[in-house]
Amino acid sequence: MANFALTLPNLSRKIFIYPSKPTSVFTNSTGILCSNRFPTMNFCSKSESVSASSSTYQVPQQDPNEIDRIAEQTLQRYSSKAKRNGKGTAIVWFRNDLRVLDNEALYKAWVSSETVLPVYCVDPRLFGTTYYFGFPKTGALRAQFLIESLADLRKNLVKRGLNLLVQQGKPEEILPSLARAFGAHTVYAQKETCAEELNVERLVSKHLQEVELPTPSEKSNSPRISNNPKLKLIWGTTMYHIDDLPFDASSLPDVYTQFRKSVEAKCEVRGCIKIPTSLGPPPSIVDWECLPSVEQLGLPLNNVNKGMKFVGGESAALSRVYEYFWKKNLLKVYKDTRNGMLGPDYSTKFSPWLASGSLSPRFLHEEVMRYEKERQANSSTYWVLFELIWRDYFRFLSVKYGNSLFHLGGPRKVEHAWSQDKNLFQSWRDGRTGYPLIDANMKELSTTGFMSNRGRQIVCSFLVRDMGIDWRMGAEWFETCLLDYDPCSNYGNWTYGSGVGNDPREDRYFSIPKQAQTYDPEGEYVAYWLPQLGAMPKDKRNFPGSLYINQIVPLKFGTTNRNRTRDKSPVARRANYGREAKGNRR
Ligand SMILES: Cc1cc2nc3c(=O)[nH]c(=O)nc-3n(C[C@H](O)[C@H](O)[C@H](O)COP(=O)(O)OP(=O)(O)OC[C@H]3O[C@@H](n4cnc5c(N)ncnc54)[C@H](O)[C@@H]3O)c2cc1C
Repeated sequence: MANFALTLPNLSRKIFIYPSKPTSVFTNSTGILCSNRFPTMNFCSKSESVSASSSTYQVPQQDPNEIDRIAEQTLQRYSSKAKRNGKGTAIVWFRNDLRVLDNEALYKAWVSSETVLPVYCVDPRLFGTTYYFGFPKTGALRAQFLIESLADLRKNLVKRGLNLLVQQGKPEEILPSLARAFGAHTVYAQKETCAEELNVERLVSKHLQEVELPTPSEKSNSPRISNNPKLKLIWGTTMYHIDDLPFDASSLPDVYTQFRKSVEAKCEVRGCIKIPTSLGPPPSIVDWECLPSVEQLGLPLNNVNKGMKFVGGESAALSRVYEYFWKKNLLKVYKDTRNGMLGPDYSTKFSPWLASGSLSPRFLHEEVMRYEKERQANSSTYWVLFELIWRDYFRFLSVKYGNSLFHLGGPRKVEHAWSQDKNLFQSWRDGRTGYPLIDANMKELSTTGFMSNRGRQIVCSFLVRDMGIDWRMGAEWFETCLLDYDPCSNYGNWTYGSGVGNDPREDRYFSIPKQAQTYDPEGEYVAYWLPQLGAMPKDKRNFPGSLYINQIVPLKFGTTNRNRTRDKSPVARRANYGREAKGNRR
């Protein structure tokens, strides 16, 4: 077996301070904030109300030892005694699959080799600017979450006899160089579906073909056969596997409910891939490299000083699943609480870990099945799967529609006169619109990197329908800020919300007065994020009139009474979202 006692080449020595520290076309008055690991914690359980005086609450709420203990127990349940039969070295190129549990690329690399080299490339392009409007492509909060995720992945790999090599630079430069240095026959990685990621895959594959590895025949002076490392891409982002769909992704139904019914009737969710407890031996490497800090990535360092502080990494993800499903027993009420906006427990909060791949959707499926068997099955337990099917749907849509997901007219090439008014956009972005519900949500986003699904729909509708602003500006700002940013879910939801999505029946308007009355009747949420409203009577907090800043635009459909409300009840959310809706045409 090859045993390279390597000090890694120059690649790993550089800590890039990206010179192109994002030059936004707009200055951000709120700043892009970021956080430290395990900052001050004020824990709030479901029974505790989240008051305006609360500062931060960590998700999950366990302390680091408890997080590790729960994660280890779960990982043990998903470990196997598989045998490997491969030769030589295989590389695992970690991308948005920062986990051990149910990681097929990691498993295949292990089976096919005698030594696995796990690598993560900190790609400078991820820290450039967004495509159209030049916002920071990754805000400091997501960068911090990523760094925590990498630290945790490394820890979990070390426990299994491996390590994680973190290299700063482009994958298409780093991976061929490592393949050459270690004589790796294959690079295994999770398949992506959007243009930027596909381009990197193409480049990696191309440059691997330029690497000549010595062949056994060469060693014995026989005729030479070309021997290049191969890139093997493994599907792993969705709950349903793309190969199991009852149709080709290119002929995916354009209506979500048709998709859902079809996969529910005709597909099985595959079981999780179990990973051996011992994955070693690791390749002999002298220095596995430090993780970069947020500042080294050219981003400002800030603490989350209010709202939810998410802990990055698979261990925290598994602990959150344990906390939400088993410890707090919240799965059984999910459908009734999921439209909330305040606190950690109205919804699962799984999305940041799903987006970074620290959490497997197939694992969630198995946990829901286990919960239904051991505790109870009801519409709430099903509804988490229903939402995960939305996530799958947007992923498969990106395969069908490609780049049109990012274009102004969306998949349907809708022509519409959008405004790019800088002042209006900035007031939305910074939470200064004069509408407490919008301002509170936007402040939560920039402070924590998270916003509820309800909030996202409301601020999206306000930006595109009431302000008439180019939806891509909103989508790119979300791309900057969201911890759970995922191109498919983000641009998929924005195209839906702005009426350019693939489903022509979608045309949704969210009335702010109605939304405020239904989802924040006592103004608790707005008073939490806008403490100046806290002294007002509860029913006035969302309607403070001249006691708050001036409204920057009138609402398209006026007040509650005049407004023909589009979204009638909590139940109507999904009715507005899928086939159940008749479509809300203005
Ligand atoms: C304008 C807009 C932009 C969005 N951008 C993103 C994004 O970049 N990344 C992202 O993960 N989600 C995005 N969403 C979807 C949704 O808002 C979040 O997934 C959800 O709020 C995350 O919180 P949760 O994990 O507590 O969700 P829960 O309500 O607990 O749902 C469980 C899981 O189901 C999935 N899910 C739920 N709703 C949706 C949905 N509408 N679309 C896709 N998946 C869904 C998520 O993976 C979520 O973690 C966006 C929604 C809107 C309206």
